Amino acid sequence: MDKAPTKKKQLLFPSYAPPSKWRSPDQDKWLKSRTWRNLRQKILLRDDFTCVYCGFRAEKWQIVDHIDGDPENHSPFNLQVICQMCNLVKHSGMGCVIEGVVDLFKKADYPQEEIIKITRKMRTSGSSDAEIMVLLGLKEKVPFVQDRTYLKPLFAFVTSRPRKSGKPIF
Ligand SMILES: [Zn+2]
Repeated sequence: MDKAPTKKKQLLFPSYAPPSKWRSPDQDKWLKSRTWRNLRQKILLRDDFTCVYCGFRAEKWQIVDHIDGDPENHSPFNLQVICQMCNLVKHSGMGCVIEGVVDLFKKADYPQEEIIKITRKMRTSGSSDAEIMVLLGLKEKVPFVQDRTYLKPLFAFVTSRPRKSGKPIF
């Protein structure tokens, strides 16, 4: 597992994991297991701690994500590194409803990956959410609906509001 499998450039858009695959006590146990921790570390090293969507690299807080949304499919080909912000977009049910930090819009002047990159850059240099949203051209805010067809063409903005879970966003 020293090389990342060759894969097509993946596009990021708001989605959610099927409710049947939401975290169960068994999965919590698995996430704490040595097998998962070792596999997770291998994937982080394989992908050089770099988010597959926005290219953000960080040795802390990155997420090893199941590409097909099935948290029980642990094939290395089904695992990828994503950052906290892209994770909140991909799992926008969590981002919008559970964590309360993601807003959805019908219109934007940039593709989703760029929205993430620009947000991170501007926030790091001190811009407010309002300033970032103006630059991104985010317009026509709409609510989260658990419907993939509805969500796919929308643009997600990760706000600077604190997450309900208290976890940091990077
Ligand atoms: Zn990312």
